[in-house]
Amino acid sequence: MKGLILQVYVPENMTVDIIDGDPGSHVVNRERLIELLTTASDVSLYLEDEKGTRDRANGIAERDYSATVDGIVSDLREQIRDGHVTDRDSALEWITETVDGHHDVIYTHAAMEVVRVSRNDDAYFAEGLYNSDDFKDGIDWSKLAYCALERDVHEAIGDLDEWFVCCECGGAVDEDDQKATEGDNLPTCADCRNDDDDEDASE
Ligand SMILES: [Zn+2]
Repeated sequence: MKGLILQVYVPENMTVDIIDGDPGSHVVNRERLIELLTTASDVSLYLEDEKGTRDRANGIAERDYSATVDGIVSDLREQIRDGHVTDRDSALEWITETVDGHHDVIYTHAAMEVVRVSRNDDAYFAEGLYNSDDFKDGIDWSKLAYCALERDVHEAIGDLDEWFVCCECGGAVDEDDQKATEGDNLPTCADCRNDDDDEDASE
């Protein structure tokens, strides 16, 4: 028989009686239910308290947020490989537009979540953008989220300049070099790629 993972939530005060043994013999309280589960053979019991549940939920939220940041970074790589973004300035412009129009920034509930999860939740203030007009109708979550997400994207990218020069010799790269860049690698110029090929061939 295959194993079964069962999640049971046992509230502090159970409102439904669970009968242990013959109907009507005795009512199982919270402690008895846990005892029954613990003493059953081949059952491993993991009791999670509220803190555990909260930590797990936060872990999922952080993972989702990381995926959002990584998604934007990999979209930018695609834009560069496709020749739509060709230099540092157009990359900065693309990032600004993409973050500004991002679902997680536009919608208030999602923007609040960005500010809750991001480690750069104070970016709006840290970058000296505070303007009391932004807050005259309450907290402008989209503005806070925009700054936090943009900062997180830049941190994930690292040095943007490196995306537009050869990562081996620091020389210029053109559109063909960008297209030849694989996966998350930084680009290399044609000369350096040829050198690598020669080395591979001589090995
Ligand atoms: Zn090179």
